[in-house]
Amino acid sequence: MKSQIHRIHQQMVNKEISCTQLVQERLDLLKSNSHNTVNSILDALALELAAKVDAKIKSGSAIGLLEGIPFGIKDVYMLQGTYATASSDLLKNYKSPYTATAIQKLLDAGAIPLVKENCDSFGHGSSSENTIFGAVKNAINPDLVGGGSSGGSAVNVAKDFTVFSIGGDTGGSIRQPAGYNKVYGFKPTYGRISRFGLMAYASSTDCVGPIAKSIEDIRILLNAMSGKDIKDQTTYQSSIILEKNILNSDEIKTVGYFKNFIENDAIEAQIKSDFLISIEKIKAKGIQVKELDFFESETLVSTYYTLAMAETASNLSRLDGTNYGNRIEGENLKETYSITRSDNFSEETKRRIVGGNQVLSQGFSDEIYLKGLNLRDQIGESFEKDFKEVDIILSPVTPNSPPKIGDSLKDPLSMYLSDAYTVGFSLGQLPTITVPQGTETGLQITAAKNNDELVLKFANFLKDTI
Ligand code: GLN
Repeated sequence: MKSQIHRIHQQMVNKEISCTQLVQERLDLLKSNSHNTVNSILDALALELAAKVDAKIKSGSAIGLLEGIPFGIKDVYMLQGTYATASSDLLKNYKSPYTATAIQKLLDAGAIPLVKENCDSFGHGSSSENTIFGAVKNAINPDLVGGGSSGGSAVNVAKDFTVFSIGGDTGGSIRQPAGYNKVYGFKPTYGRISRFGLMAYASSTDCVGPIAKSIEDIRILLNAMSGKDIKDQTTYQSSIILEKNILNSDEIKTVGYFKNFIENDAIEAQIKSDFLISIEKIKAKGIQVKELDFFESETLVSTYYTLAMAETASNLSRLDGTNYGNRIEGENLKETYSITRSDNFSEETKRRIVGGNQVLSQGFSDEIYLKGLNLRDQIGESFEKDFKEVDIILSPVTPNSPPKIGDSLKDPLSMYLSDAYTVGFSLGQLPTITVPQGTETGLQITAAKNNDELVLKFANFLKDTI
């Protein structure tokens, strides 16, 4: 698929379509859609911004590449004056008092926000069923889940309701729904894009990233959102990735894959054989392929969930109905906290808060939390060693195809295990993209820290190879 952003930009410049027309069309599609992708529509704001773009074009002024391009925002980002619900009862009436840095950068470039998108509540989930707005339905087969937690965002892009959407990825929440709905989803190196204004789930792995229909659009959006931000001390300055730099992949000589991800009972037979066919096609292009050893899926998933639950328990402790959230009055303050949180958090979110507080509590933290931190270090070291031997690591995105709506809710453990292939790269804070090729749920391309450009290069190479 060619760049949607370039195509639509050209149509507006050539006056084949007005920005207002474009925005109105997409708003209508969003409003009438039956995939449950929408938490709130930003029609007044979007149409006001579109009218400004049209006036600019009419006056003969040049417009920037992102100017007038309509997009969606996962409902965990702040956009001043709009609802930011995290798909939860707790924040269903909460309005953002300020705007997230990444979103502000897109607004500054002229992109037009249309919608706050449905997702798993606070990013907790892998199916976008953990939401008060109804389960998100898969773009290709509506009986299946949209994936999570950025399910609404991936489905909106896949169905062309938005040109691109901004998801959030803590353990796979951009890459997995991108795979389930056959679009591109990119999780940059941790810290490349500011997290300021993204509701914190697990701060040590939370990443902002784009979902789009082409690698070129991912590149444009990554450039637009990256950069150091004094409001997020984990950010760093990065250089612009030029289009010409990602068109030639000659420097990529060696690709690795984790043997134990593939030689495993948990992987679906079709995904396994499709993955191995992709590997053969890569070899046929003269690239050396190496099998690598890695941690068992169970270890990766338990390490991730131990740390993610601990961090989310801590991050969500501020949501007690005093400064934030729907307050439910009890007999006294303690009871007020208790009822507010018990009634307004979902079962899945409560499971994580209880688990996280257990992990952090005295008498357990040494045994569980510190062990998790130690394993995370070991995982990081293992990646460093791997990237001395290979340029790229290729893996499936998920071991299984998307489940039917309803199935994951019955079996949280199997839902957690569906994250087996994505969480390791999150713990390593590595740049990684899902491309809609190779297996039913796509392929995941990962490079060493800060090598985001190499990931896009290989994605371009794969586009023409398999
Ligand atoms: N499915 C994973 C979880 O529930 C990842 C979610 C995410 O990346 N926000 O934690």
